[in-house]
Amino acid sequence: MSADTNALDAPVTSLKGVGEALRLKLARLRVESVADLLFHLPLRYQDRTRITPIGTLRAGHEAVVEGEVSASEVVKGRRRSLLVRLRDGSGIISLRFFHFSPAQQQQFRSGARVRCFGEARAGATGLEIYHPEYRLLTSDTAPVEDHLTPIYPTTEGLHQARLRALIEQALERHDAAPEALPDWIPSELRQRFALPELHQALHVLHQPPPDADPERLASGRHPATRRLALEELLAHRLSLREVRLRIQQDGAPGLPSGRGLQTRFLTQLPFSLTGAQRRVLDEIGSDLAREVPMLRLVQGDVGSGKTVVAAMAALAAIAGDCQAAMMAPTEILAEQHYHTFKAWFEPLGIEVAWLSGKLKGKARLDTKAAILDGRARMVVGTHALFQGDVHFQRLGLAIIDEQHRFGVHQRLALREKGEAGGLTPHQLVMTATPIPRTLAMSAYADLDVSIIDELPPGRTPVKTVVVPDERRPEVVTRIRHACAEGRQAYWVCTLIEESDALQCQAAEATRDELTEALPELAIGLVHGRMKATEKAGVMDAFKHGELDLLVATTVIEVGVDVPNASLMIIENPERLGLSQLHQLRGRVGRGSTESFCVLLYHGPLSAHSRERLAVMRETTDGFRIAEKDLELRGPGEVLGTRQTGLAQMKIADLERDADLLERIPSLAEALLAGHPEASRPLIRRWLGDEAGRYGQV
Ligand code: ADP
Ligand code: MG
Repeated sequence: MSADTNALDAPVTSLKGVGEALRLKLARLRVESVADLLFHLPLRYQDRTRITPIGTLRAGHEAVVEGEVSASEVVKGRRRSLLVRLRDGSGIISLRFFHFSPAQQQQFRSGARVRCFGEARAGATGLEIYHPEYRLLTSDTAPVEDHLTPIYPTTEGLHQARLRALIEQALERHDAAPEALPDWIPSELRQRFALPELHQALHVLHQPPPDADPERLASGRHPATRRLALEELLAHRLSLREVRLRIQQDGAPGLPSGRGLQTRFLTQLPFSLTGAQRRVLDEIGSDLAREVPMLRLVQGDVGSGKTVVAAMAALAAIAGDCQAAMMAPTEILAEQHYHTFKAWFEPLGIEVAWLSGKLKGKARLDTKAAILDGRARMVVGTHALFQGDVHFQRLGLAIIDEQHRFGVHQRLALREKGEAGGLTPHQLVMTATPIPRTLAMSAYADLDVSIIDELPPGRTPVKTVVVPDERRPEVVTRIRHACAEGRQAYWVCTLIEESDALQCQAAEATRDELTEALPELAIGLVHGRMKATEKAGVMDAFKHGELDLLVATTVIEVGVDVPNASLMIIENPERLGLSQLHQLRGRVGRGSTESFCVLLYHGPLSAHSRERLAVMRETTDGFRIAEKDLELRGPGEVLGTRQTGLAQMKIADLERDADLLERIPSLAEALLAGHPEASRPLIRRWLGDEAGRYGQV
């Protein structure tokens, strides 16, 4: 590494005047090295490159004006202030100071020439600028700024001017040694995508020429910003590719065929697999046969039958003398999977174990022992499964259900689990969050994707109605009728507050109210604050038909499967995202009777909410709903913060840069083919230590 490279990689403390206190403030902005300063981009710009005639100013304009003081006085109003009248040939404006010194009063003598900068606003005397930045001019030719003035995001105790000066220092260093910050996007690719070169892009962004359009720059649509956004998106994709390559360098147990066991399993199932399930199983089968870890995502809409696909894959592992594990994001779902797998596998002589964080004492020790000595062939649980103190005898397949609740880190932690046996387990990731294709390609760049695009036959689509809260009594009657016919119902309570406690309280109140209104029904309650065993007890009772109506918080959002439930009431649906509503609604419509979902809203609804709820009424297609969700809420929300980190990018914006996102896969391939050496430094530049961590696990 040359001395020049060090100049930009060096910590910020290598800059003039940066000590420990300032280092800490910069660290809050995620700025640690001199190069980080270069990638700390302005939020917006001020134009101080020209003097605006006073007569053309409008309220809300930020501008430099210059003129002659025509009068100056201290006025008494509600607050004492110094009012300076300034005029040029075109008009007149007032400068108003609420804090001022006698010396300032002296400065603004009639006839003095002043240049100032600030935002014009409508005031008592016409247009006024409060507390402008100003200086008195002695000659007529004082220069204006030669580039637009950047305004940076900053942090408490760090002044804009100080930050600006530091970034100027960083730019100077970069100018002195442009090669210290290599442009890893090769020129032929740059030309293909009409992108400026890195050094030039950084200059434009920090010191835009006077003719640059500040709006365009700040909105991120300028080629210079797009160039950086593209680089960042590319770095994210490369890092996921890297994760994949590293995992696939390890060996995995080859699991050529579990056919005997799988056939026995299928014959005991009350249904046959759909074409889509069989196709996806073929794809999984050929992955499992290879001695390279499978990294496959199965996407399938709510109710498409992913669990049985997971079970078939698990049987291949078990037939190959390995263990299989399935991780679910909530206790309730994990517990339910446990019961499903027990019912399916025990008749085949396969021991199924259950592990969650709440399993304690001797039960926990026993389960861990069974996992370690291999008696437990199939293990179901929450993320507790993949914590440090759980050791498998020989884990061949790890299944992660409802992947949108987990991040890339948890998936990577799996790699360690296999290491005890010297092999890395195959990974099967399942999700019902159908995200649009370009987003999926970016979020899951490390995974192969299979899609179950067919629902099991005989399902009648759920009918959805949107009903105001005033019609609650009718809704209660509807529950009475459904239950009288032997059907079951869910009542889901939502609250806008993040607070678990409040949400549970609301659910309790609703349970009490419904118990009073429907005394003939057996009504149960589940919420997030109950003990795991309590929750499991209630879910069990509901599943076995001992309860008619289940009042729940959104804890039942994922995966819960009670085919006899055919009515769902969702209170305050306007507070949830569309994909979440779709997940919830997917709890009904699992049997062959016609199912209903009542969206019980609290009026008045905004036009936006009305539009969202209309989408739910019009379609049950998860992909359409996801697309609408994306359109209405933006990708950050849809993907969730726990996703791959895609939602927390520095410069790129998945929505604004959607067109770039589409080019990323081909650009990444081109880069890896022609310039593989660029991959690592790009990842480091944009993902820093995090990328290092991905690489190591
Ligand atoms: P999801 O994809 O949402 O996880 P599940 O695996 O919970 O869906 O399946 C939903 C319901 O459909 C379950 O009751 C399951 O037993 C049933 N099921 C799955 N596959 C089929 C099929 N091929 N034919 C009929 N029912 C099926
Ligand atoms: Mg499921």
